[in-house]
Amino acid sequence: MAIQRTFSIIKPDATERNLTGAINAVIEESGLRIVAQKRIIMARREAEAFYAVHKERPFFGELVDFMVSGPVVVQVLEGENAVLRYRDVMGATNPANAAEGTIRKRFARSIGENSVHGSDSPENAAIEIAQFFSGNEIVG
Ligand code: ADP
Ligand code: MG
Repeated sequence: MAIQRTFSIIKPDATERNLTGAINAVIEESGLRIVAQKRIIMARREAEAFYAVHKERPFFGELVDFMVSGPVVVQVLEGENAVLRYRDVMGATNPANAAEGTIRKRFARSIGENSVHGSDSPENAAIEIAQFFSGNEIVG
C-alpha cells in the first residue's frame, strides 16, 4: 500500500474543550503524520460547500451552524492507507457505536458534535485538501 494523504478537521466541540493536543496525540500514536495544520474559523459558505453532499439531510442546517460556531483545526495526515486508517482511528460517526480507544469514543459529545472529520475516500481527500491548503503549505 502506497503512502496516502487524508483530510482531517478537529471540530469546534473539541477546540472549545482544548482537546487539539490530545487528539493530535492519538493521531500521531496511530502512526499517521500531521503534514499540514492550521486553526481557522470556517466561513458559512465554506462549510456549506464542504458538506454539500449532505445538503438534503435533515441535520444539514444544524451541521453547518455547528461547524461555523467556533475555531476548527484543518489538517492533512499522511501514512500508509491513511484514508481508511484515520477512519478507524476516529471511530463510528455516532460515539455510542464507536470502538474503545477511538477519538470519537473518547471525546465526542454526540452524533453531531463528534470532534473530528476524516475523508471517506482518496478522491474526496484530494478534493477536501485542495479546499483548504495550497501545495506549499503541505510539508511531508
Ligand atoms: P462521518 O463524519 O463519520 O463521515 P457523515 O459523513 O455521515 O459522517 O456525516 C457528516 C457529519 O454530519 C457527522 O460527522 C456529524 O457531525 C453530522 N451528522 C451525521 N449524522 C447526523 C445526525 N443524525 N444528526 C446530527 N448530525 C449528524
Ligand atoms: Mg462523511
